[in-house]
Amino acid sequence: MISNIPKWMIGLFGNKLAPNVKVISTIFLSPQVKKISFRGDISEWDFTIGYASVIRVSETEFRNYTISYHDKENGVFEIIFHIHGNGTGSKFVDSLKVSDELFISPPRGKKLYETNKQQFFSGDETSLGVACAWLPLLKKNQQQFQFYFELDEINKNVPECLGLENYTVFPKNNSFRNEKWISTLPLFQSQQWKTANIALVGNVRSVQAFRKVLKDKKLGTIYSQGYWLEGKKGL
Ligand SMILES: Cc1cc2nc3c(=O)[nH]c(=O)nc-3n(C[C@H](O)[C@H](O)[C@H](O)COP(=O)(O)OP(=O)(O)OC[C@H]3O[C@@H](n4cnc5c(N)ncnc54)[C@H](O)[C@@H]3O)c2cc1C
Repeated sequence: MISNIPKWMIGLFGNKLAPNVKVISTIFLSPQVKKISFRGDISEWDFTIGYASVIRVSETEFRNYTISYHDKENGVFEIIFHIHGNGTGSKFVDSLKVSDELFISPPRGKKLYETNKQQFFSGDETSLGVACAWLPLLKKNQQQFQFYFELDEINKNVPECLGLENYTVFPKNNSFRNEKWISTLPLFQSQQWKTANIALVGNVRSVQAFRKVLKDKKLGTIYSQGYWLEGKKGL
């Protein structure tokens, strides 16, 4: 779905983009990371790992976000938002409070998951949600896994608050864009990870740098999706 739809076209969708879910709780896990629980009819939704929902963040704008937890029976789901303060989506989500109603689409998109393989994952604040959704599956399938997060100092404790496991937090200091630095990471020297499934999400430039190094080293099966790019509205 495109991130901006002209006003005249919105009318063509009729009631399809009207509010369909309600906020039932909100919590800030750090000054920049907000977890929100919603209630709605999610009985037909597909929660494949990697899929994302679009949220209507203004009359004409839509942004992608990942459902981090769902409970179909009770019609409840959660999303972990990076409140970076630069865009319409971030400001809209920052303002959301209990009882607000909004439009969230069923998840769709690109699958990141492969069962029965070792799993390496890298991302940033925007990727905490997909990591949370993934963790129970990785554990259920008894897969070996490792999460790498590049996070601002202020968010470095969020993975712990979320109960994530097997993660390493790196400071957001451009290391994830430095191919030389990435290629020296001990994990990528080990033969053990040569056939792993590799999921790269988060900032586009970081995804590109990791992808290049891993391709050059002929490591793993790579699944990648950039979630945001400096200067670009909605991806
Ligand atoms: C498949 C998919 C799943 C995603 N899942 C999540 C999720 O679960 N949680 C989440 O928080 N985000 C998620 N994102 C990322 C989110 O859609 C983008 O960050 C989006 O750009 C936010 O919209 P905005 O209106 O706040 O900013 P925009 O209007 O899109 O951008 C305005 C400015 O803000 C900058 N910007 C955008 N995002 C960030 C950021 N994270 N940090 C710093 N600057 C930024 C842009 O580069 C631009 O300069 C996902 C994206 C995709 C494609």
